[in-house]
Amino acid sequence: MTASNPLLQDFDLPPYSQIRPEHVEPAIDSILADSRSAIAKLLAEQPATPSWESLVLPLNELGARLGRAWSPVSHLNAVCNSPELRAAYEACLPKLSEYWTELGQNRALFEAYQALAASPAAAGFEVAQKTILDHALRDFRLSGIDLPADKQKRYGEIQMKLSELTSRFSNQLLDATQAWTKQIHDEAQLAGLPDSAKAQMKQAAEAKGLDGWLITLEFPSYYAVMTYAADRALRQEVYTAYSTRASDQGPNAGQFDNGPLMEEILDLRRELAQLLGYGNFAELSLATKMAESTEQVLGFLRDLARRSKPFAQRDLDELRAFAAEQGCEDLQSWDVGYYSEKLRQQRYSISQEEVRAWFPIDKVLSGLFAIVERLYGIQIVELQDFDSWHPDVRLFEIRENGERLGRFFLDLYARPNKRGGAWMDGARDRRRDIRGELVSPVANLVCNFTPAVNGKPALLTHDEVTTLFHEFGHGLHHLLTRVEHADASGINGVAWDAVELPSQFMENWCWEPEGLALISGHYETGEPLPGDLLERMLAARNFQSGLMMVRQLEFSLFDFELHASHGDGRSVLEVLQAVRDEVAVLQPPAWNRFANSFAHIFAGGYAAGYYSYKWAEVLSADAFSRFEEEGVLNPQTGRAFREAILARGGSQEPMQLFVAFRGREPRIDALLRHSGLSEEAA
Ligand SMILES: [Zn+2]
Repeated sequence: MTASNPLLQDFDLPPYSQIRPEHVEPAIDSILADSRSAIAKLLAEQPATPSWESLVLPLNELGARLGRAWSPVSHLNAVCNSPELRAAYEACLPKLSEYWTELGQNRALFEAYQALAASPAAAGFEVAQKTILDHALRDFRLSGIDLPADKQKRYGEIQMKLSELTSRFSNQLLDATQAWTKQIHDEAQLAGLPDSAKAQMKQAAEAKGLDGWLITLEFPSYYAVMTYAADRALRQEVYTAYSTRASDQGPNAGQFDNGPLMEEILDLRRELAQLLGYGNFAELSLATKMAESTEQVLGFLRDLARRSKPFAQRDLDELRAFAAEQGCEDLQSWDVGYYSEKLRQQRYSISQEEVRAWFPIDKVLSGLFAIVERLYGIQIVELQDFDSWHPDVRLFEIRENGERLGRFFLDLYARPNKRGGAWMDGARDRRRDIRGELVSPVANLVCNFTPAVNGKPALLTHDEVTTLFHEFGHGLHHLLTRVEHADASGINGVAWDAVELPSQFMENWCWEPEGLALISGHYETGEPLPGDLLERMLAARNFQSGLMMVRQLEFSLFDFELHASHGDGRSVLEVLQAVRDEVAVLQPPAWNRFANSFAHIFAGGYAAGYYSYKWAEVLSADAFSRFEEEGVLNPQTGRAFREAILARGGSQEPMQLFVAFRGREPRIDALLRHSGLSEEAA
């Protein structure tokens, strides 16, 4: 098995096409067994005073070997899910959880780290190494190193259970999303939908051997109906199916219900936090973040809510008045997207659909690359002949002066059995290995855009372009790092509430005339975005920004309050309602089960951390304001950002890195101005 198991081979890029579900468990078993004996041997052979070379480097090698096998498996589980792969993936979760807990509670290992941190050599370490040791000692404590044996055991049980439950949350959401479709036989029912959306629905029907058109709950399909379908009953039906996914409500009520899982996850997180001496999970979450206290986070969010609510109320009043003029007197949740799009068209004569024609994927990519090449002095080249998990996947290399800095895979389009949303995953870290050789980083960039239809290239909406820039910003953070230590290179070791700085920062170029000139070109004629269309787009930038802001704040406050107050007797729905009463201007129907699909906090890394988006947006908007002052394509400013932020990864505290770039601590003004929420903008 070992000889023929591709996961155990020493590959450069993963042999995706050869990986089978039956390879997964044997590979992980074998690597974990090897790692355990290697660590025992390593500790037995440590000198009285461990050195970086005797302790950290060999551990990094073991981590890299495990990552080399596990990263492609978890990636495939997300982008090419199947029952067999899912079973293999899940069989490994408890084993990995057990292994990580064991490492975090390994007394001899902890003492070796303590001895290294206290050694004379450590005083002369570079800043990245010092930060890594600080964080390592902190993480031993957060793994329960100081707890009595029975509590350590309980810690391990909780972690194992959490890894199982959060994975199940994600699976049930994917299953619920796939389980509902609606076949349309009469094209008239799709009145209002753009041809591209209808073509995609036709393609979806054909793929299942059906006649007519198939509406699914994959985002591009859902979005098209909510934004364009003139048939109100159809919008209501699709909205109901989408907003009750994985819950006790809606057309598949009770079949994939995440509700009980959520309560169990919250109970376990609270128990974990209290085991480690924290009052609640929100406090535990902040132990590794930039924000200093739960009061600071709540104060920050409430301040933003107070500032933006009047703008949101104004947006909603305008929308209601407009919908009423059009004959819709009782605006419901399934009407908001539809009338908003109509109002946008009326006010700015602009629609997401019209704009698509100017954003064919290849033009957007070449423009994006031109922007970052200019800012950061790099080159991006597409590679051919590589192993892949789907024919749509592309591979690129980032070079500097002809030398490879890193590579990234792009998987852009929505398809069945692929998780929704967009994300960047650091598949391999930059590091100098134990033989002194530099390993280059690899990233996976995944989106769920509308695929190409009718022989046209894939045409992106401006929202999709923005998402691509966002994920690309994460990618650059991972790939342009100069740190050579795995634990602080790229996004590793970066406080979670600072991790959205490079990503949200990149979005700004989607709104700058100089950026738009590079990323747009009509797919038939190649013509650049016409001046008047550009002006209308810029004028529409802050359309309903008040509503969007309070929505993000509702998610952030809900997540934080939920983790701070869980155990006070309120249910998830009651906490959500209280937050809505405080910040929302529009109440969704009582049967809406948004929380049941909130994978960021129940299955991703954003638990008591969703506020990070807004928190980091203060940083990203303020960092970008230096470009506004010095020129948005100014290569010197670009190099300064690269060296101060992108190159440094988790090697220093984020506030220090920010100050190094901006020359002062962050201010909120730029965020308010960009969002149209300042006096100046109003
Ligand atoms: Zn992000």
